[in-house]
Amino acid sequence: MMGRRLFLAGGGMLCGCAGAVHQVPPVTGTQLGLAQAEVAEAGGAPIRRPVSERDAQAMMRSALARIRPSATRLCQEMAVGVCRWEVRTSRDRTLNAGAGGDGRIVINQGIMEYAANEEEVALVIGHEMGHHAANHVANSGDARAIGSMIGAAVMAAATLAAAASGPVSARAARRSVESGANLGGAVGRLAFSKEQEREADYLAAAILYRAGVDLGKARGFLVTMARLSGRMETGILDSHPAGPERVAGWDEAMRDLARSNGALPPRRGV
Ligand SMILES: [Zn+2]
Repeated sequence: MMGRRLFLAGGGMLCGCAGAVHQVPPVTGTQLGLAQAEVAEAGGAPIRRPVSERDAQAMMRSALARIRPSATRLCQEMAVGVCRWEVRTSRDRTLNAGAGGDGRIVINQGIMEYAANEEEVALVIGHEMGHHAANHVANSGDARAIGSMIGAAVMAAATLAAAASGPVSARAARRSVESGANLGGAVGRLAFSKEQEREADYLAAAILYRAGVDLGKARGFLVTMARLSGRMETGILDSHPAGPERVAGWDEAMRDLARSNGALPPRRGV
């Protein structure tokens, strides 16, 4: 199991960066404070908008088509991970998505139901592509091969009871991904390190930036997740990136990418 370091509350964060390919720029305490205030101000639970299976698929495919070319190029530039992805939707209405072996990506219908626009769906797909591009899936080890769980902390609210009943075996978790069934089977387990999650968010931002997708619009999805995660009891959140941190990280990524015009940050150990 890869080493993991905890974030320092308030004064920014320490990046141990275990398992990450790049040195993702750190978030300042000020940025985190702003994100926390924004999420608090946004208040209660975001609205779920029922979407038919057909519409969910169409939305996912449209978002995918916009980012796949730039994502593939970015992945080839990184040259460490899997760059051929099989992306599909699952009928699961929980707010989650996952990356599995062999370039597989599953986007739950619940993602489309909470997404305010196509850009937000693109963020989620880009995040999963980022896990593959940085080879997090292969590096996560057998027990964690299940994938990323972009919204695991959030989704946990709906499946808390199931999670509390005991850990889910890696095999069962993999099976659930393979069947496209409930990704929530792995709730309570940290699929990737926090550093890998931060990197996947950064890579998603880079993919969207290069594809000309509005990062400001896509950002709404992280706010939505933060609003939902803020309504949870502690526990599961201890092992997942907290909501406002991801919003602040996205803001820093936006600034960084604007400065570099979409270039990737330096690699670790370089
Ligand atoms: Zn992830």
